Amino acid sequence: MLDLAKYTKELSIQFKAAGNILLVCHVNPDGDAIGSQLALYHYLKSTGKNVEMISPNYLQEFLKWMKGVDKINIFIKDRNGCRSIIFKSDLIIMLDFNQPGRLGEMEELVVASKARKIIIDHHLNSADFSDLLISDPTKCSTSELLHQLITSLNNGPFKEIAFAEAIYVGIVTDTGNFNHGSYTGETFRTIADLLDAGINKERIFNLVFNNFSADRMRLHGFALNERMIILEEYGAAYISLTKEDLKKYNYKKGDTEGFVNLPLSISGINFSAFFVEKEGFIKLSFRSKGSFSVSEFAEKYFGGGGHRNASGGDHYDTLENTLVYFLMAVKSEGHKIKSSGP
Ligand code: 5GP
Ligand code: MN
Repeated sequence: MLDLAKYTKELSIQFKAAGNILLVCHVNPDGDAIGSQLALYHYLKSTGKNVEMISPNYLQEFLKWMKGVDKINIFIKDRNGCRSIIFKSDLIIMLDFNQPGRLGEMEELVVASKARKIIIDHHLNSADFSDLLISDPTKCSTSELLHQLITSLNNGPFKEIAFAEAIYVGIVTDTGNFNHGSYTGETFRTIADLLDAGINKERIFNLVFNNFSADRMRLHGFALNERMIILEEYGAAYISLTKEDLKKYNYKKGDTEGFVNLPLSISGINFSAFFVEKEGFIKLSFRSKGSFSVSEFAEKYFGGGGHRNASGGDHYDTLENTLVYFLMAVKSEGHKIKSSGP
């Protein structure tokens, strides 16, 4: 259990002391990264602080409706502007990651910065690159943890609607609309507060999960029909997409979000992997049902990480070689995968 009183006090001191606060999320930010970043932004703004936000790279399309996204600076779009924001910050708060490598191209600048650094996160195995680590891996999302911290700081739930919506986006995306992940009774008590604040959960669901292009829907069909391989004897399956595949379906950032989950709906498939070809590397996503730890798998074979049932990483090789290596890894872990499951 997190010592809430201790961290609330510490955060309160740090917020008071800082003139310029910078909030940063991880590269390829997901709904929880952007949700927690925006939520903290709205809260700090309401207390009159100077707050800036930076994302290492571009946001996915399905997050662009959120209030405040236009205030997020994109490092790879405006390196100079972002550099000066980093330099003038007294306090940098990092949300939803715990490895410096997840800062992408801004890693060196942030790590070398003289600002005080706080991590607020829910992943296992934190690296040591902050002054204060507030981490609770039992939480389904960084957004839920942040809500708990802000509720304590605020002496009661903070009810601004943009804040509540951002927290909800973080929870609903990290749990796949409550289909997986470590949500608890506390998650639903948090949601009760968000509903009291006035969120419209159907509206948010539609904006996040039902807001795609026809091309994306066709890419979805193509991925399942043409690119899904079932490794029945190991209880595993994978989908891989090349750059050409993406181009053919007018790929926009975020279009392949959730594809990795699809093979898990097949009976007897306990491990699913998704490979997508990027510029010079392969982006990996792993999901599992039951005891098979995909964070251990990602770490052992690909230097990645994440959670027991959802993890990822990058692999600097061709798609072909990556798949050969992956198949070798699946064979080695086959007994564990087979005995996993619901
Ligand atoms: P996704 O498949 O949605 O990209 O990532 C799933 C989870 O895996 C994320 O919540 C994150 O915790 C973790 N993850 C994804 N990519 C990386 C990576 O490159 N390094 C590490 N350490 N974790 C990752
Ligand atoms: Mn998260």
